[in-house]
Amino acid sequence: MNKIKNYINGNLTEPASKEYFDSFEPATGKAYAEVPDSENEDLETAIEAAQGAFKEWARTPASERARLLNAIADEIDNQIETMAKAESVDNGKPISLARVVDIPRASLNFRFFASAITSFSSESHAMEDSAINYTLRQPIGLVGCISPWNLPLYLFTWKIAPALASGNCVIGKPSEITPMTAYLLSEICMDVGLPAGVLNIVHGYGNKVGAAMSVHPEIPVISFTGGTSTGKRIAEAAAPHFKKLSLEMGGKNPNIIFADCDYETSLSTAVQSSFANQGQICLCGSRIIIESSIYEQFCNDLVDKTKSLVQGDPLEESTQQGAVVSEEHMAKIMKHIEMAKDDGGRVLTGGERTIVNGRCKEGWFIKPTIIEGLGIDCKINQEEVFGPVVTLLPFDSEEEALEIANSTDYGLTASIWTSDLSRAHRLAGQIEAGIVWINCWMLRDLRTPFGGVKNSGLGREGGWEALRFFTEQKNVCVKI
Ligand code: NAD
Repeated sequence: MNKIKNYINGNLTEPASKEYFDSFEPATGKAYAEVPDSENEDLETAIEAAQGAFKEWARTPASERARLLNAIADEIDNQIETMAKAESVDNGKPISLARVVDIPRASLNFRFFASAITSFSSESHAMEDSAINYTLRQPIGLVGCISPWNLPLYLFTWKIAPALASGNCVIGKPSEITPMTAYLLSEICMDVGLPAGVLNIVHGYGNKVGAAMSVHPEIPVISFTGGTSTGKRIAEAAAPHFKKLSLEMGGKNPNIIFADCDYETSLSTAVQSSFANQGQICLCGSRIIIESSIYEQFCNDLVDKTKSLVQGDPLEESTQQGAVVSEEHMAKIMKHIEMAKDDGGRVLTGGERTIVNGRCKEGWFIKPTIIEGLGIDCKINQEEVFGPVVTLLPFDSEEEALEIANSTDYGLTASIWTSDLSRAHRLAGQIEAGIVWINCWMLRDLRTPFGGVKNSGLGREGGWEALRFFTEQKNVCVKI
């Protein structure tokens, strides 16, 4: 069994308790690695290390910080095959996806913020000829980065790269369900000579390590990505300490298809946006809202295309649909499907587990599932499933499409498919979401603000927003 270690003060360390728990390969259902069951003592050691490193790191020139981040990115690229395989084994995602999305994006996160920090600037405000104000943007100190299991290294580095670039020291807590690539990252950080204590990775359960980070007075900033209920818990724990918070949470994203869309592109993208990574991407469109005049045709074609997705061993190159991340998550998804059926939903395809022969026969696979016939208020159209399950809803007018789109407590993303650009812009302005895609999906420019509204998020990541979040502003007023 692989033994994962914490990365504290530049060293790979055992948890103080010497206790470990199992990490499973979703495709086989078997334990394959041991994860440190860290506790307060490990967190305290990491905090001490980060505090010891902070002064020096904060005054390290941005160009040198950028050089180190680029060196980490180079090493991730050099190890792309190892990293992609590790991500696939740990998470159940197809290796082909990890190779073109997860791992390249992780190295890009480092490169992007290495470049951004060297061109980051701040404002100045002249008061005619009496005074000049300038704003310093300084590193805050220790920041806590807590990340989820769906895009493990991609989302972990999306937080730690800007935090490190702006001169902070980091305590990172990857998901306990998918800790492997964060562990490999710690080895890379050691190899490239990242100074000890600048980045510390403490593995373990969310309700132990994550909860302890959220209340710890020495960690004034928490950047979190995960479920809305966890985000709420973190916000409650952090509030008495007035921590700076960034919360990226769940979604129930609408994918709106008008009759005048580019049919083939919207259809093939709908398959992707519904089922990529087994539907376990926060940006996936889980409610497909289709104009009535093309509803039947779109629905038939979507079902046909979905049935042709190749599901199987994630390590096979031809696999398009892998396993869902855990047995517990599989049970949760199946429960949502059963509830939808009980509410009167018609399952057009899927709705059951897949048994994959060979080494994956005990793996956690669910057939891509499409359900129709349910109202906007039923559970599956309101609650996040975060699996390979989409619902279909017809609409007759633009107003109705908008009403359906905005009918949940979430507001992360939306996609609109139409050739009427006036309508697209009109809707984009009215949809309650942090990100709207018109005639595309998951097209990402890392400079843009990333985040959600309503129960999907607080604050924005990406570009200057991230560097602003991870720095403290100070105004200096000089009398002339
Ligand atoms: P989760 O909330 O269960 O866990 C996320 C992280 O929080 C993990 O590292 C976990 O250990 C930690 N955690 C758990 N309990 C904690 C606590 N009490 N205090 C502090 N930390 C705690 O989420 P998940 O199941 O890993 O991920 C799936 C969720 O993440 C979905 O809801 C999905 O929509 C969301 N997500 C959102 C985005 C986004 O950008 N908005 C991106 C990816 C995933």
